[in-house]
Amino acid sequence: MPADAARLTIDLDAIAANYRLLRDMAGGAETAPVVKADGYGMGANQTALRLWAEGARTFYVARLAEGEALRRALGDRAATILVFDGCPAGAAERLTASKLIPVLNSGEQISAWAGAGPCALQVDTGMNRLGLTLAEAADLAAAPGGLRVDLLLSHLACAAQPGHPLNDKQLQRFTAVRRLFPQARASLASSGGVFLGPDYHFDQVRPGVSLYGGGPHDGHEPRLTAVATLEAPILQIRDVPQGDSVGYGADFVAETPLKAAIVTAGYADGYLRASAPAGGAWFAGARRRLLGRVSMDLIAVDITGADARAGDMVELIGPNLTLDDAARAAEASAYEFLVRIGRRSRRRWIGEA
Ligand SMILES: *Cc1c(COP(=O)(O)O)cnc(C)c1O
Repeated sequence: MPADAARLTIDLDAIAANYRLLRDMAGGAETAPVVKADGYGMGANQTALRLWAEGARTFYVARLAEGEALRRALGDRAATILVFDGCPAGAAERLTASKLIPVLNSGEQISAWAGAGPCALQVDTGMNRLGLTLAEAADLAAAPGGLRVDLLLSHLACAAQPGHPLNDKQLQRFTAVRRLFPQARASLASSGGVFLGPDYHFDQVRPGVSLYGGGPHDGHEPRLTAVATLEAPILQIRDVPQGDSVGYGADFVAETPLKAAIVTAGYADGYLRASAPAGGAWFAGARRRLLGRVSMDLIAVDITGADARAGDMVELIGPNLTLDDAARAAEASAYEFLVRIGRRSRRRWIGEA
């Protein structure tokens, strides 16, 4: 039966291979996969179950509801699940009911948690997003009340840019604040931080995007294995005469006669609209240019010279078109591309645990 819609194939064996690479790089530090946003669109449950089978025991999500869903999926496995959002007012009961550990981010959250059990504490070392200031952290260390901080955490703002001076600044501040909580384990590195080297690894690393094949430093990383393959079938093939335009706004005008394949994927499938004109597709053994604008449900691809029939599949991301290159063509990040293509396309998984 011919496929009628975009198809996203998620290779869990590739996620496992990336996990092993990161774990080896992290040396003695624990590798705790980040599976927020439905595992960056790649399936939080499938990813976590597969990585549990590889030996991962600690997982991170962003939202409370993500944590509750992951706990249900993991069943009676003794996994540690941490929630980056921490403990907003009124959340303590639900966190406790699902045995979730909040990453407490502010004095208000510390009060809302009220020593309801073990927790992680985020300290802001320069990103100015979440976490206690260094002064607040020092006050807390001096008077912890009933709070039991098992893990001290901070997040790098520029881990994707190895040469950025803020990395070293954050490392120095984190090292200093860590001395205030000597009983707590420490975690600083996301994917980019793992690749920055052992100084950044501490007791635990928290990679996300590189598990899913995204380069840690804003570009393709050949040591990582591609995870996502996005393909869509051709719905119609048409000959475009010289001088005719293709698509909305008549942006593209054919300078020579050409053959266009109209493919059933568009920005509603998460294929970024900005992918044209710089992006490409892979068909019949060659990279092909996109013609005109990406529309909501369709893309036109130049397949001049190729044999093609309606129903043939065109690769939009995959072994021949890396995620990072596709993202770069759209002036987007690999993160954004991944979470968007996870939506409307039919997802199927290879290598489930
Ligand atoms: C999303 C996130 C991560 C994972 O980041 P990647 O760059 O995807 O590896 C780690 N830590 C925190 C606090 C995050 O928000």
